[in-house]
Amino acid sequence: MAVAEFEVPKVQPYPLVDIPKIKPDATVHLKSFPASEKIQEGIGFPGPLVDNWHKVAIDKMGDLLNRYRSLAVYMDACVHCGACTDKCHYFLGTADPKNMPVARQELMRKVYRRYFTFAGKYFPKLVGAADLTEDVLNDWYSYFYQCSECRRCSVYCPYGIDTAEVTMAAREIMDAVGMGQKYTNEILGKLHRIGNNLGLPGPALLDTLEGLEEDILEDTGVAVKMPIDVKGAEVLLITPSADFFSEPHVESLIGYAKVFHEAGISWTLSSLASEAGNFGLFIGSYENMRRAAMRIREAALELGVKRIVVGECGHAWRVAYSFWNTLTGVGHGGEDEFTRALQAQLDPRYPAPQHICEMTLDLINQGVLKFDKEKNDHRTITFHDSCNVARGSRMGNMPGGQFVIPREIIKAVANNFHDMADETIGEGTFCCGGGGGILTDDLMEVRVKGAMPRMQALQCVVDEHQVNFMAAICAICKAQFSKVLPYYKFDMSMIGGVHQLVSTSIRLSEKK
Ligand code: SF4
Ligand code: SF4
Repeated sequence: MAVAEFEVPKVQPYPLVDIPKIKPDATVHLKSFPASEKIQEGIGFPGPLVDNWHKVAIDKMGDLLNRYRSLAVYMDACVHCGACTDKCHYFLGTADPKNMPVARQELMRKVYRRYFTFAGKYFPKLVGAADLTEDVLNDWYSYFYQCSECRRCSVYCPYGIDTAEVTMAAREIMDAVGMGQKYTNEILGKLHRIGNNLGLPGPALLDTLEGLEEDILEDTGVAVKMPIDVKGAEVLLITPSADFFSEPHVESLIGYAKVFHEAGISWTLSSLASEAGNFGLFIGSYENMRRAAMRIREAALELGVKRIVVGECGHAWRVAYSFWNTLTGVGHGGEDEFTRALQAQLDPRYPAPQHICEMTLDLINQGVLKFDKEKNDHRTITFHDSCNVARGSRMGNMPGGQFVIPREIIKAVANNFHDMADETIGEGTFCCGGGGGILTDDLMEVRVKGAMPRMQALQCVVDEHQVNFMAAICAICKAQFSKVLPYYKFDMSMIGGVHQLVSTSIRLSEKK
């Protein structure tokens, strides 16, 4: 059982009746470790705080307001209606009023008013404008790293104001003045240098995959392969590096391999592009996001694959689905020669990119895959919609496909499934509490408290239906829940992947 050095929120009966009584500054002291100068430089930012930080910050804000029309609209559009105030899991879990989405935005909005509006320049007190001081910047560092960029608040805002974009802009400004976060920026540097978030070099990867092949053979008696760097394979699988050896992630990787085996689809991983995750999204850095994503285009061209399939990872799927086209040319006809070459190479009969769940459900519907569903009978399953899949992307050819497809797979491979309360799933899903750059031990209190609304909804289906397995299609959700579930007296092995369930019940044949 995890022992907390802080008060773990009480899980109360759902639906939530009590909006917490506010506790000002309850979490102002919770700050991630700052990035060192070396880490900052590795991803193109200065560090520590530069001498002329004030000018750099205001110039950067002006640049972002010009570059992103949405940000300028968000700065002006809020009418302080309050609809978002109780929608953030970090506010519900910490009671700190600055974790209300509108208050989080206000940290930037008051500075915006001061430097970018007429009234704010000449009558700052009248319009709630404030100078950008070191104290304000410190507040930014606390509270913009207590936002997982989950976008739940934007669903309930009548103007669709997206706090996640405000958070990304604030982080970009902080990075520009040398105030970066160690966790995200160090990982991004590893991705640029080595090719994955874990810093796993090619030979270690190969070794891990060979070990997994042996494990599957021992378990099933069937020689399922884990190919890497195979030129001419049909599919390039881009998956989070956590899938290579973290638990429970690796169980899903085994599931993908079994699906490819049984469907007779030739596939490969890539040592050049051994990471689906792209933390450039979390810090709002287009340049870093593009640099990370370009590895995938390079690998696809080098290996000559016909399809690109993405494994179980929420923010990675958002980047792939929503941004790869403009970042790398995957998914549309760009103008540079590499993009044109890639478009000519990819098979137009398949979406580019395609989610592994789309591929698996297609194969199930075609009758290519068969299952012994009773092998999952020891599990009563629920499904956690991950934020970036739910509110930042889609799957399949129907609106809401991202909600339907994973559930259809679960029902095809297992007998016992129960959804959590409607308002906590689908578009209104609650974040796991660890997304968007929060999955670091220095923010454990924020992570545990932010997980409370999801734990509450889970407790309900545990009590009503004896649920003992929560499936997810996100590497961060899996890592976060593995750590946080014990704080709420759940077993850490309750969390697992959709393809972990596929892996358990798929019928394998000696073939192909
Ligand atoms: S964590 Fe999610 S709900 Fe909370 S402010 Fe950020 S985007 Fe909004
Ligand atoms: S719901 Fe939208 S308009 Fe209303 S306070 Fe929140 S951000 Fe402002």
